[in-house]
Amino acid sequence: MKNIKDYNLNELKEEFIKLGEKPYRAEQVFTWLYIAQVTSFDDMTNLSLDLREKLKKEYDFHNFKIIKKQESKDGTKKYLFDVLDGNAIETVLMEYHHGKTLCVSSQVGCKMGCKFCASTGINFSRNLTSGEIVEQLLAVQRDENIKINNVVFMGIGEPLDNYENVINAIEIINNQKGINIGARHISISTSGLIPKIYELADSNLQCTLSISLHATNNNKRNSMMPINTKYPIEDLIKACKYYIKKTNRRISFEYALAKENNDNLEDAKELVKLLKGMLCHVNLIPINKIENGIYSKSTNENIMKFRDYLNSKGITATIRRELGSDIDAACGQLRRKNL
Ligand code: SAH
Repeated sequence: MKNIKDYNLNELKEEFIKLGEKPYRAEQVFTWLYIAQVTSFDDMTNLSLDLREKLKKEYDFHNFKIIKKQESKDGTKKYLFDVLDGNAIETVLMEYHHGKTLCVSSQVGCKMGCKFCASTGINFSRNLTSGEIVEQLLAVQRDENIKINNVVFMGIGEPLDNYENVINAIEIINNQKGINIGARHISISTSGLIPKIYELADSNLQCTLSISLHATNNNKRNSMMPINTKYPIEDLIKACKYYIKKTNRRISFEYALAKENNDNLEDAKELVKLLKGMLCHVNLIPINKIENGIYSKSTNENIMKFRDYLNSKGITATIRRELGSDIDAACGQLRRKNL
């Protein structure tokens, strides 16, 4: 059966027209779904009983089941959701001073093969639909009785490898008649799918783009991120410059620091050369250890030296807080699971 949450507002109106219903009915349903957050058509009390029955025959809600919920000592919460087809994905809720941030998954598994990331350890299974992306927010909001303030596409999967569903989910999340989270409070992180970066730049979506850079030359980046052999650094930086010019928005570069791999002063110098003059910010991530991982975390001293060097050269750099590592909820630790 079709998932009622797979449609943005315009698409839902078209669906209703096909059913011989007035488009404003679609708007009522949309509001029930995302503002009132009801979980069945029977709760939509301003629809006639006939219409409710008709909708029940066509669509269902695909409400996720929580298989497991873990809480870190820093307050981070990790959900393992049953996505109702024998697969399970993880979603992470974090509390920052600027509100509640949800880290959502975009695929079941990942094709990118980054050597430091657990999400890639098990094979790719499928894309999540827009409704399944949106449901991660709804399920957490229902469970915790909260309103999410920020969404980051930094869970399992490569969001730009599931471009259409991700953009469609963002439309639902961003719509004022929907979940109503401002585009600037939504971040997409990518390992660097260049053609999609151009597409995103041209889409005029005001969300924040993060680039998983992690290395400053092709040899090193190839060894960490196989996708770099297809989309090398110089082309990636060119795409980023186009994105900045087109959107006038600052890009955030993620750089996970691995001991004796990419964390010495030479790397920092190369990074400055690469990013000089760009409207950007560097987010340093102390690399999180994963099962069978070949990389280990840099020393605190190196991490701070790296940050200070970048800042001294006029490139703003911050160190990402390590939230949830005790429950394997930190960057790179999320995995797809089979039920
Ligand atoms: N596929 C997207 C989304 C993942 S986002 C992307 O590659 O950007 C999660 C961020 O955490 C990315 O920057 C990713 O490279 C980084 N990451 C992955 N594994 C990590 C690890 N073990 N330690 C720290 N950061 C990691």
